[in-house]
Amino acid sequence: MNTRLPTSSPASADADLETAHDIPSPEAMAMIERLITFDTTSRDSNLGLIEWARDHLENLGARTRLTYDATGAKANLFATLGEGSKPGMILSGHTDTVPVDGQEWKTDPFMPTIVDGRLYARGSADMKGFLGVALHRAPVFLDAINAGRLDAPIHYSLSYDEEIGCIGVRGLLADLEAIGLVAAGCIVGEPTSMQPIIAHKGTHRFRCHVHGREAHSSYTTHGVNAIEYAAKLVVFIRDLADRLAATEVRDFGFNVPYSTLSTGVIHGGIAANVIPKECKVQFDMRTLPSASAEALYAEITDYARKLEADMKKEDAAGRIEMTWESSTDGLAASENDAIVQLARKLSRHDETGKVSYGTEAGLFQQIGIPTVICGPGDIAQAHGPDEFVALEQLAQCERFMDRLALGA
Ligand SMILES: [Zn+2]
Repeated sequence: MNTRLPTSSPASADADLETAHDIPSPEAMAMIERLITFDTTSRDSNLGLIEWARDHLENLGARTRLTYDATGAKANLFATLGEGSKPGMILSGHTDTVPVDGQEWKTDPFMPTIVDGRLYARGSADMKGFLGVALHRAPVFLDAINAGRLDAPIHYSLSYDEEIGCIGVRGLLADLEAIGLVAAGCIVGEPTSMQPIIAHKGTHRFRCHVHGREAHSSYTTHGVNAIEYAAKLVVFIRDLADRLAATEVRDFGFNVPYSTLSTGVIHGGIAANVIPKECKVQFDMRTLPSASAEALYAEITDYARKLEADMKKEDAAGRIEMTWESSTDGLAASENDAIVQLARKLSRHDETGKVSYGTEAGLFQQIGIPTVICGPGDIAQAHGPDEFVALEQLAQCERFMDRLALGA
């Protein structure tokens, strides 16, 4: 990859950055707080936020593209700020947040609240802090492009439905492929405490629906027990997970250094004295970038076919439906990639890392865009009650953006 950033930058401006305070600017905070007040829980529309961000960027002259979901209630925004002779950098984040249902918050999750150097709100870390800083810096990027310090545009990618399986961004990426967009790289601002993250596992979800035959429990010979066959599949998946834990080639960059499988949900049966007709199970699989999700899934479906044959020997009604619900590719960048070197320079974090959670980064890489993850806040604070981002993290993110505008 060619990095399109000029190497020269005004030394005095850069020196100012090094001595900058550890609190974010009031203007960036205002932008973050504006984003937080849009309730963009994944199940609801995100159009309020998207249209607001589109207007903000269009007012600066950005060219924008929206890609909608089938209902028209949700959209991705892709915006390009400025022109340049070289491919530009994409700043990417998802607009949706996880629900607050059943969580005990000390503050109103949609009312940004600052306590002890932390900004508390749903989405503060994941990931409206990053988006707010990036959107606030749009005029700075534009000035840099107009002044020739940046000779490439800056792109914004804001997606929907990331939290429910990286659903939305796929439409945005298909659109970028269709128009032939060439980008120098992509920075996904998920909360990494501003450490460049170069790899994450692939995330895959499966559903299994076992159909048996109902019968009085005293006549086991007249029914096919859906729960018992589902249980065999659950045990098979656990055995497969144990095999990977014992034998897969390790990648010690990850906390759990091998691919994992687990059963997360199981539903079946109506009463102890009824042979259950149905059982539904949901599985999750996290693969190392080097592993083949397809091969592992094939082992599971082969076993399901064998179980189904056994069920049919008991009764023709026996049937197992397997569904691969969603899949998000892993990310595997290298230390030597220009995008990784750039992120290290911008963040002043030399050490890169790997994470087990999935992000949209793998999907950007999949269409040929070099991608790294780097954003303010800690993933440990995301998704739970009292989500927060430290103000110092937001200040670091501001300096990251300013270095980007200065050409690092
Ligand atoms: Zn996120």
